[in-house]
Amino acid sequence: MNITLIPVDGYERVAKAEDPDSGLVAFIAVHNTTLGPALGGLRLWNYDSHDDALTDALRLARGMTFKSSVARTGLGGGKSVIVAKKEDKTPALFEAMGRFVDSFEGLYTTAEDVNVGIDDLVSVSKHTKFVSGLSREMGGSGNPSPYTALGCFEGLKATALEAFGSKDLTGKVIAVQGPGSVGYDLARMCKDVGAKIIVSDVYQPNIDRAEKELGADVVAPDDIYAVECDIYAPCALGATLNDKTIPLLTCKAVAGAANNQLADENVHAKMLKDRGIVYAPDYVINAGGIINVSVEFHEGGYNEDVALKKIHNIDEALTEIYATARDKDITTHDAAQQVAEANLAAEGVGA
Ligand code: NAD
Repeated sequence: MNITLIPVDGYERVAKAEDPDSGLVAFIAVHNTTLGPALGGLRLWNYDSHDDALTDALRLARGMTFKSSVARTGLGGGKSVIVAKKEDKTPALFEAMGRFVDSFEGLYTTAEDVNVGIDDLVSVSKHTKFVSGLSREMGGSGNPSPYTALGCFEGLKATALEAFGSKDLTGKVIAVQGPGSVGYDLARMCKDVGAKIIVSDVYQPNIDRAEKELGADVVAPDDIYAVECDIYAPCALGATLNDKTIPLLTCKAVAGAANNQLADENVHAKMLKDRGIVYAPDYVINAGGIINVSVEFHEGGYNEDVALKKIHNIDEALTEIYATARDKDITTHDAAQQVAEANLAAEGVGA
C-alpha cells in the first residue's frame, strides 16, 4: 500500500492511500485534535475524481471538529472517504482501509458513514483497533443512524419553535430529501406526531418504503426545493443549499441531517437569513450519532442512558444558538461557529 501525506493548511494530517491489491483508493483527513483524538465516519462514494474525494474528506473533517466541539464529546475532527462504487465493496477493500487507519496511530478513529455499515467496520477492525460504532455484542455503540435521527428530531422541534412559535408539528409539511438511514427515521418520528411527509430520493427502494410506510408524497429529486412545505429536511448529501436552490425554497425552516448543507457557509447562511428562513446549523442538529459513539470512550464504556441524555441536549444547544443569532443579528451558522470556536479556544489552539 502506498500512503502519501498531503500538506493542507489548517489540517493536522491528511493522507491518501492506494493499494493495488485490494483496489483501495482512500483519503483520511484529520482537521483538529485540540479537544481529543479525531473521530469521524468513513464514507464510500463513487466520486468523479480523486480531487473531489479529497475535498469532501477535508470539508467533512472540519465539520467534525465543530460538531464535536459544540456537542462537547471530548473528541477532535476527522473523516475518511473511499473512492468506489457501492457494488464494488469487498472485505479486502475494508481490510486495506483498516491498515490505512492504523497508520494514523490513534490520531484518527473511524466509524460508519454513507454506504459503510457495521459489517464493513468489522473488516476494518481486523487491522486496527481505532474503530468505533461496532455492534453492541462486540462492545461498541452500534449503528449511529437512529441516534442521529433522534437528535435531528429534537433539533427540528427546537427549530419549529423558532420559526413558528411552537414545537407542535401537527399538520406541518416536512420535505425530506433522502429518506435513507437517518432521513427515514426522522420522517417517521415527524409523521408519528402528525406531520405530513414529502420525500425525494434517487434510490427507488427508499422511495417505495417512505410511500408505503409513511404515506409520503413523492417528488422528483430536483423538485424537492420548490415543493410547498413548512420545513425542508436535507438528509442526503452536502451542498444542497446554494445559489440555485435557496431562491426556490418555500419553507420557513431548514432542519436536516446532511453534513455540509451550505455550499458556501457564509454566503448561503446569509441568503437563508435574508429570506427569513431559520437554518439549523448542520453540525449541531446532526450530532446525535457522534454523541452516541463518543460515549464508547467514557470510563466504563458505552451506556445508552448517558448517550440519550446528551442527545436530548441538542434541543437546548440549538435554542441558545437561535437566541444568540437573534440578539446579535447574525446568521445561525455564525452563532454556532462562535460556540464551537469558544470551546476550542478554551482548550488552547483554535480551529
Ligand atoms: P443513507 O445513504 O442511508 O441515506 C441517504 C439517502 O439519500 C439515500 O436514500 C440516497 O439514495 C439519497 N440520495 C442521494 N442522493 C440524493 C439526491 N440527489 N436526491 C435525493 N436523495 C438522494 O445515509 P445516512 O446515513 O442516512 O446519511 C444521510 C446524511 O446525513 C449524510 O449527509 C450523512 O453524512 C449525514 N449524517 C449521517 C449520520 C449517521 O449517523 N448516519 C450522522 C451525521 C450526519
